[in-house]
Amino acid sequence: MFLPTKNLEDFSIVKLEDLGWSESFAHSFECWIEPHAGKDYQVGRVAIAHRSQYHLYTAHGNTTATLTGKFRHQAQTTEDFPAVGDWVVVRPQPETPQYLIDAVLPRRSQVVRQASGTRTTAQLIATNIDTLFLVSGLDHDFNLRRIERYLSLAWKSGAQPVVILNKADVCVNIEEKQKAVEESAIAVPFIPLSALHQDNLTALNPYLNPGKTVALLGSSGVGKSTLTNQLLGKEQQTTQAVREDDSRGRHTTTHREMLILPSGALLIDTPGMRELQLWSTDQTTDQGSGSLHLWEGAESGIEETFQDIEKLAAQCRFRNCQHGSEPGCAIQAAIDSGELSHKRWNSYQKLQREQAYQHRRQDKQAQSNAKARWKHITKTVRQNRK
Ligand code: GDP
Ligand code: ZN
Repeated sequence: MFLPTKNLEDFSIVKLEDLGWSESFAHSFECWIEPHAGKDYQVGRVAIAHRSQYHLYTAHGNTTATLTGKFRHQAQTTEDFPAVGDWVVVRPQPETPQYLIDAVLPRRSQVVRQASGTRTTAQLIATNIDTLFLVSGLDHDFNLRRIERYLSLAWKSGAQPVVILNKADVCVNIEEKQKAVEESAIAVPFIPLSALHQDNLTALNPYLNPGKTVALLGSSGVGKSTLTNQLLGKEQQTTQAVREDDSRGRHTTTHREMLILPSGALLIDTPGMRELQLWSTDQTTDQGSGSLHLWEGAESGIEETFQDIEKLAAQCRFRNCQHGSEPGCAIQAAIDSGELSHKRWNSYQKLQREQAYQHRRQDKQAQSNAKARWKHITKTVRQNRK
């Protein structure tokens, strides 16, 4: 049998609860098997998802599994297929140790990469995450707008976001930054720490209880790997961290999918999870179109984060209401009545402004690219005439 990770060897007897099983999954499973009685059904949690083969954690150990023909036939979008973190209904096969996957149980949360805003290209990265740690650096790289964007993504996923403000050791105006985060990420827990110091990590303990699933999200260089290694502990680090250089010279993580931390929590750390950071950086480098895609995803995220405001705005008398002094403005009325706080309204406006700025910047970039191309063409034409 395949052992997805070294540390799973320590888990010869695993309770389903240790793998994140809960009453709601149990209920879904019961509902599913009721009409399918008579077969030897079990459940497993997806640790690794290959194209046609899956590695599962089950109560009886680790196993591999494939999809039934019927499943394959009925699945239409990528969201229909199992992803890392999914609970699947499986049954053993008589002559092979490989299990068959009959169904995916309804998900509690899912992280989807919206490649171009359409369903067909959406990519399911991971599911059933309880807490998304949004990691940010408190160093010169600190960027409030970026935190807000990650927050939008987190709300969209259905997982609970927690902002980790890393590199507290090199931050001089920590209170100021903390205050800014507090005002911007309303009602979201934030934890300043330094991933370099193991004793700093106790603040994360409430989220790392046995059977809880967490994942790290954040731009390159904020300290996700450092934090992951600290959470895994020194021992596992040496056996698990298989790192390879990808073609861009960036470090990517391989053979690390859903891991069981010494605390008993499950850490989802798929390559896909890390790639999410590409479309969340606001550097307009070689991934011009990549950042554009972020905006499509993030904008629908904003609507969900600020659903109350979107709802109010729909009630304004004028369709094109700027929510200033127009008569019949539902936003202003809600601010007056105290239903909507000034703070929240300001955060919303800030995010809107930032998005408008991003769009303009992308337009400008496109224009200057066109200009540069045109210059190049006219130059070569001229040279050819000579
Ligand atoms: P990742 O790209 O998010 O995985 O970031 P890394 O974990 O590779 O960290 C990037 C750099 O930041 C490395 O040089 C780390 O040693 C450093 N780093 C990570 N955490 C801290 C911290 O808390 N304080 C300081 N000063 N440096 C840190
Ligand atoms: Zn209005």
